[in-house]
Amino acid sequence: MTDCCIIGGGIIGLSIARELAGRGLSVRVLSRDASRDTASWAAAGIFPPAPDSAAASANDRLTAYSDRLHRIWSEELRAETGIDNELEPCGGLHLAADERGSARLREAQFDWHAKGARCDWLTGPDLARQEPALRAAVEQGRILAGLLLPEEMRIRPPQHLEAVGQSCRMRGVKIVPAADVRAIDVRDGRIEGIRIASGEGRAATDTVRADRYCLAAGAWSGDLARALGLHIETRPIRGQIALLRLPRQVLTRVVNVGLEYLVPRSDGRLLVGSTIEDAGFDKATTPQVIDRLIAFSHRLLGPLPGAVLEQSWAGLRPGSVDGCPFIGAAPACSNAFVAAGHFRAGLHQSAGTAMLLADLMTGRTPALDLAAFAPDRRPEANSPDSVQAYLARAAEASA
Ligand SMILES: Cc1cc2nc3c(=O)[nH]c(=O)nc-3n(C[C@H](O)[C@H](O)[C@H](O)COP(=O)(O)OP(=O)(O)OC[C@H]3O[C@@H](n4cnc5c(N)ncnc54)[C@H](O)[C@@H]3O)c2cc1C
Repeated sequence: MTDCCIIGGGIIGLSIARELAGRGLSVRVLSRDASRDTASWAAAGIFPPAPDSAAASANDRLTAYSDRLHRIWSEELRAETGIDNELEPCGGLHLAADERGSARLREAQFDWHAKGARCDWLTGPDLARQEPALRAAVEQGRILAGLLLPEEMRIRPPQHLEAVGQSCRMRGVKIVPAADVRAIDVRDGRIEGIRIASGEGRAATDTVRADRYCLAAGAWSGDLARALGLHIETRPIRGQIALLRLPRQVLTRVVNVGLEYLVPRSDGRLLVGSTIEDAGFDKATTPQVIDRLIAFSHRLLGPLPGAVLEQSWAGLRPGSVDGCPFIGAAPACSNAFVAAGHFRAGLHQSAGTAMLLADLMTGRTPALDLAAFAPDRRPEANSPDSVQAYLARAAEASA
């Protein structure tokens, strides 16, 4: 029998597995979908500045903790696996397209300074000097002003996911592909076993047993958590992305305008995202949205001669009502733990989540107070990080 069984092979499940295996435990990961079909693969890979200030919220402290660990993990992963996840402090620009946007940026600048992040106000001409590809948009009045956040980073999600998976395997983790968890059997306040359907057509059924279990199934966690006596909401929130191949890279920094962004890749590609959509578990892209994203890139960068739409995709972010993930033990089930609901920050928060969960699962005291993440908390719905708040912002932007 394995020591630990993780449900979910996205970045949260794999990072936890890697950390547990690094501590000498035998670990099995059950993953229903191919890596490409996870939110983790689909992510843009933006890591906003994450200063660790005393005034920070619990969610910001988790991000700051994780941000520090990512820098270490990135080096370790390269040394262990030879895979470069391309974590890089490339800096980020946050732009205003109109007066209302400028007023919002002033508030954002105040907030960033309060959190202790470096953040400079840039006029239009400053922006054109920093990123010459934006010059035409500045001169034609499509960009008024911006903020420069030099500490913003980018990471390449598919590479990071591959590196963490490879590191898991090198540490002896058994990753079971195409393993669909159909039921969690609980008896006398403990998980007794997990029933899975696996293989071609999912014909084979099996029961997996372990000493301890962790539910990390992204947007699908809410349904499975009911067996553990938990009522957590991990609402799927779709995000679509278009990937352009350019003859040469035109940007050096991540560029954000409201909820949309451009992420330049080191290989010359440009990722254009994204949307915040309440579309249930539908992972399809829609032509209207992809056209809108391409139009957004043209608004900022002009017509981009020679650019080719290479790929487009969508992923389902696991939303939580108050924007904080669920990280902790399931009170009604003595050998069950949960790590889910990371919404828009799951890549960024993954290394920290792994460390905290591994601490809990191995009886160590976690480095952060986890009260705000308790799976049985009563979430406050009016948080600015909540799914509801982001859906409202998305509706306002498209009105
Ligand atoms: C378009 C987009 C852009 C994003 N940009 C960023 C960003 O810039 N920065 C950032 O930090 N985050 C970003 N995110 C958010 C981030 O991707 C997620 O928060 C994170 O990937 C969630 O990871 P996860 O492992 O919980 O879920 P997922 O990656 O979705 O993994 C869930 C896993 O659970 C498995 N599973 C589900 N049900 C079952 C079952 N019944 N049996 C077995 N296995 C099951 C799935 O197969 C999968 O392996 C973005 C997300 C999207 C969609």
